[in-house]
Amino acid sequence: MAKNTGLNWPIVGHQNIISYLEHCLLSGQLAHAYLFVGPSQIGKTKVADFFSQALICQNFSEKKKPLPCGLCPYCRQAQNHLHPDIFRVERELNDDSEKLKKNISIEQVRELQNKLNLRSFLDSFKIAIINQAQALSQEAANSLLKTLEEPAPKTILIILATHQHLLLQTIVSRCQVLKFLPVKNSDLVDYLIGQRIDRKKAKNLAALAFGRPGVAIDYLSDQSAYEELTSEIKQFISILQSDVISRFKIINELVVARDIDGLKKILFIWSKVIRDLLLIKNSLPNLISHAFIGGELTRVAEIFSPKTLMEIIKQLNLTRRYLDANLNPRLTFENLVLTF
Ligand SMILES: [Zn+2]
Repeated sequence: MAKNTGLNWPIVGHQNIISYLEHCLLSGQLAHAYLFVGPSQIGKTKVADFFSQALICQNFSEKKKPLPCGLCPYCRQAQNHLHPDIFRVERELNDDSEKLKKNISIEQVRELQNKLNLRSFLDSFKIAIINQAQALSQEAANSLLKTLEEPAPKTILIILATHQHLLLQTIVSRCQVLKFLPVKNSDLVDYLIGQRIDRKKAKNLAALAFGRPGVAIDYLSDQSAYEELTSEIKQFISILQSDVISRFKIINELVVARDIDGLKKILFIWSKVIRDLLLIKNSLPNLISHAFIGGELTRVAEIFSPKTLMEIIKQLNLTRRYLDANLNPRLTFENLVLTF
């Protein structure tokens, strides 16, 4: 939880960022645009939600605390994503499938600009939260740049992105950049224990989350996600131990069932498993992410040399880049498992 601030936002970690935003709110020295950079599920959206709620809260205009109050009609609207002056832009679902579109389109940015150009409903701030801004199409990014170049009064953009280098440099340079770092493991454990989780499970979840509170909270609230992760790890362990034909069969199932984001998630899980195997090899089993399956990992670690594991990590990183470059996912994954 944030400590030593007057805001008391229920957010795990990121104290320096919350203190900075508190200073912005209390001093009235607000930037026209903020860029929150950091991995998914680290807390960017949560901070953006509380920051925007603070800006439209009745307490803000009356210079009172706490901020946000959480009780006034505007706070309630914001909490329910119904506030007429807070706009959200994110990747939309494809019409014909449940998968997210690859890009945020220029039409979405234009629609946002039209809304920002209208007078505020409540004469309050108008706030745009742009999620996964790295997915803005080229035209959408260029169009957004115009809004940043000619900022309207009482309009604040909060742009969220996983990596700064995936955005136009001209966008980055017009934003106040705030970098979200992984939350300390002990902070996460304390938070989870505060949620009445027993210490052992809290430690397991925190290790899994890798500094990203959203991951721990997801696993906590969704037992099936925890089970899915376990089966994904076991599937990878079986790939590592099987022949090429069986590997290709599993890859076929994986590629059919997942979109690019899903496949990247698989690569992330696989990287963490290999990292665990390396830690076990280096006699550091207490640092592994998947302690709940530690016995099996210890057994698998015996099969591979540290050199081979380092090579697999390299290949996993390469595969991620190939997916970013839109290479055929099936071929990319088949090539990957040939190197194990
Ligand atoms: Zn309020």
